Amino acid sequence: MTMRSPNKNEINNLELYLNDVYGNKCVFKAEPGEIEFIQAGIKIIVQKIVHLVLENISLTAGEEEVLLNLEEAYFPIKKKQVKTAKSSIIQVGSISEGTKNSFPDEFDIIFPIYLVKTYAGWCPRTKLLSKAYEQIKTVTTRPHTECLNHICPNETLNVTKSLHFDRYVREHGPASVLRFIYKNGLGDEKYIHVDLVPAIKITVLGDQRDWYEKFNGKYFNPKLVSLCSKIMSDKNYLEVDGRISFTESESHFMRNILSKKHSKVYRILKILINGHGDGEILNLYFRTDPHSSEKGYSSHKIKTMMFHHHHECKNPGEETIGDCVKQVLEEMCKDSNNENHTVWGTDSILQTQCLLLPYLEKLLEGLKSIQTSEDSYDYEKLRMKSVSKRYLDALKEKEYLDRDKQGNAVCSRSKL
Ligand SMILES: [Zn+2]
Repeated sequence: MTMRSPNKNEINNLELYLNDVYGNKCVFKAEPGEIEFIQAGIKIIVQKIVHLVLENISLTAGEEEVLLNLEEAYFPIKKKQVKTAKSSIIQVGSISEGTKNSFPDEFDIIFPIYLVKTYAGWCPRTKLLSKAYEQIKTVTTRPHTECLNHICPNETLNVTKSLHFDRYVREHGPASVLRFIYKNGLGDEKYIHVDLVPAIKITVLGDQRDWYEKFNGKYFNPKLVSLCSKIMSDKNYLEVDGRISFTESESHFMRNILSKKHSKVYRILKILINGHGDGEILNLYFRTDPHSSEKGYSSHKIKTMMFHHHHECKNPGEETIGDCVKQVLEEMCKDSNNENHTVWGTDSILQTQCLLLPYLEKLLEGLKSIQTSEDSYDYEKLRMKSVSKRYLDALKEKEYLDRDKQGNAVCSRSKL
């Protein structure tokens, strides 16, 4: 390969390559208005389900005293000083952030049950959460009515898109998984899944920063100014499954603060690292191996690197993305002993680094050599496997060699 020194603002092979990855792997085909229809439909139907769930839960005798600082209830309550309101669902995840690299068939939706004000950032326990889980199941498994449908007739084209609730699937972590069926204008059907998660909304009284630093201790990262100050300026945060969740602030950051260019960089990085589904296969492998506590580079980890990159970007140009992709990967490679770029104390990328780091480094090397190459550009020739896929292939090869070694050992023993 012929090499040359990279010129910052020039369209080199790396720019062409990354734009092709984006065009071929990140952008997906949809009918006009299809995505908006699905998003709107899911919002309407899930909001109906949530109202049905909340209508049917209430505090057990004595629990009203537990929730002394209850500010707002989204379920029926008789206490006069408590304001009641309808719960609004909160859409989070890649679809709502505009960073999904495939058809929008998986939604993440959170719904608050009540709002409490506390000083300590701690909220007393009630049975409401488990009642919400039960009710999601009850509401969605009973013979449901046509009210869980969404239809969009288009008279000019004489076609009708539709979306309807299909069935309750299972509990998955803190989420209840619900299935919907979407029918496009041609009558083709697709499953859409929604992870529905009940939550508690909490407002911390007193100094937010003080509380936040106390809570997150040494993991607090002043470099993540925008995200952290967003979290701290927010009046509320959510508690999901007994843990503090900043998902709502993160989604806001991805939608409204991160630049369009960096959003594109993030989508490309997700493909370069996890491909379409390679990351999921790798996680499945780690989960089935009882001795392994390893995890791949999740989208959330890559997203965290983007929060960091937002402040550290050394590539001010509007047009080029190659240097951004390289810079994020360099940070990921060198950061194996540094947990400080996360705002979540427990989300260390240390363990991931042990196993996948060599493959991440290979990706970075590959991209650098594309950037300095003077060969004529050919996407098909340059196409690379994702980091997760490289690791999986190496595993397979090792297994094959091990088996081969065992085979040889048996052969040589039988000769004796
Ligand atoms: Zn950048």
